[in-house]
Amino acid sequence: MSFENEKVVEIKTCRHCYNQFEITDKNLEFYRKHNLPIPKKHPDQRHLDRISLRNPRKLFDMRCEKCGKDIKTTYSPDRSEIVYCETCYNTEIY
Ligand SMILES: [Zn+2]
Repeated sequence: MSFENEKVVEIKTCRHCYNQFEITDKNLEFYRKHNLPIPKKHPDQRHLDRISLRNPRKLFDMRCEKCGKDIKTTYSPDRSEIVYCETCYNTEIY
């Protein structure tokens, strides 16, 4: 799964989910360049962390802007986004 020319320099075990993940020389280069610490967590776990930061887990009861159907959304009601139910969303976007 690694890119060509990429060499695994270290195998780490995630502190959180205990999955192992590889640190490659390209990774190290990237972390050094951006002055980042070497991660202690599995990439999937880091991905989940980012999602949970972006959107709080809490679900709000909302009404579809278009058809008025009751829906659950992660957007809080005080945000300005227009929220559609899945059906209306799909017909609007595609
Ligand atoms: Zn709708």
